[in-house]
Amino acid sequence: MISRSKRLFSKAQKIIPGGVNSPVRAFRAVGGNPLFIRRGTGARIEDVDGTRYLDYVCSWGPLILGHAHPAVVRAIQKTAASGTSFGAPTELELEMAGLITDAFPSIGMVRMVNSGTEACMSAIRLARACTGRNKIVKFSGCYHGHADGLLVAAGSGAATLNIPTSDGIPEAYLGETLVLPYNDIPACEALFAQRGSDIAAVLVEPIAGNMGVIYPHQGFLGGLRKITRKHGSLLIFDEVITGFRLVWGGAQTLFSITPDITCLGKIIGGGLPVGAYGGRREIMQQVAPLGGMYQAGTLSGNPVAMAAGLATLKELKKKGTYARLDSMGKLLCAGIRDQAEEQDITVRVEECGSMFTVFFSNTPPACYEDVRSCNVEQFKEFFTGMLKEGKMKKRSARGFNYKNQKTKF
Ligand SMILES: *Cc1c(COP(=O)(O)O)cnc(C)c1O
Repeated sequence: MISRSKRLFSKAQKIIPGGVNSPVRAFRAVGGNPLFIRRGTGARIEDVDGTRYLDYVCSWGPLILGHAHPAVVRAIQKTAASGTSFGAPTELELEMAGLITDAFPSIGMVRMVNSGTEACMSAIRLARACTGRNKIVKFSGCYHGHADGLLVAAGSGAATLNIPTSDGIPEAYLGETLVLPYNDIPACEALFAQRGSDIAAVLVEPIAGNMGVIYPHQGFLGGLRKITRKHGSLLIFDEVITGFRLVWGGAQTLFSITPDITCLGKIIGGGLPVGAYGGRREIMQQVAPLGGMYQAGTLSGNPVAMAAGLATLKELKKKGTYARLDSMGKLLCAGIRDQAEEQDITVRVEECGSMFTVFFSNTPPACYEDVRSCNVEQFKEFFTGMLKEGKMKKRSARGFNYKNQKTKF
């Protein structure tokens, strides 16, 4: 009998491009049909055919507490019952801004938006407004959402579909984005020596997550800080994944590096569509209505989304949460390494707290070029096999990301 997921997918393909509302969901890079999900609780999800899975994807990052966490559901229900949007300020937005500015010393002021894409797009506009320069530096394999000009050598779904640069972006925009290899400070120094005075900002995932987890080498982030400061450019940390993921704060907290602008998303929305960008006061004062950099949103700071995000952040702030996440990450990675060794399969499990990726490779990848040389066929086999075992995982470039949150249910 043909599964309900399959039937729904063939219907969906007729009226939704590729049958999905975001490309990675289509399983193109790994083969097979996407599963239609009907419910989730804690670490488990159930598809429309009634098959249950241990979910390591957790909505690709936002659901750090797992599915339908009681505190988050309660907050959403309670808030929605009093109205879902007003187009006027609410107290919840103030509370959210308070939590973010408290957790990130580099953020004196923060503006809420509706997605990570919007956060990065706005951060770049802000950097250009502050510096009066146009060029942006990004790193190959890093993903910063789908704004024009950031879809160059992009990671995430763009990488898995081999569309590193999207069609439909004017040459003139592409020319404003300069791409460098991750973890390569000499290349960055050389570029700045040549064109430093044109560069508005360097945009980086402080721990790369969208080409699989790649750790910044000692001196990489500090090097970027030094170079940008020397040349009057801004340093933007895209912490859409790493924000509140590893510690209370972001990767900048972990590495003690102060960026000029920080982008947030995913976790701060607790499963609802939210993003944010922030920085020190004199930078954020360029944003309208204070300054001349325009950025707006009908649903920005939406009360229901704020309530879901706040409920999530309050759970995370409780003592011991991150220690528990870290120890579960370590346990899972060690288990995968042991299993691989037992089966005589060569893997590199790159981990940082609850972020990790299994690369089918001998050496730890340091940049996107290295990721691309990992064994993709072995990876597909792994993906399919694990799915059969009842585990849904995230494919990332040539590796696998496990999201290892487990909540009781
Ligand atoms: C997910 C992600 C984005 C884009 O966020 P959306 O909410 O999908 O628009 C941007 N940057 C990074 C690092 C991300 O992981």
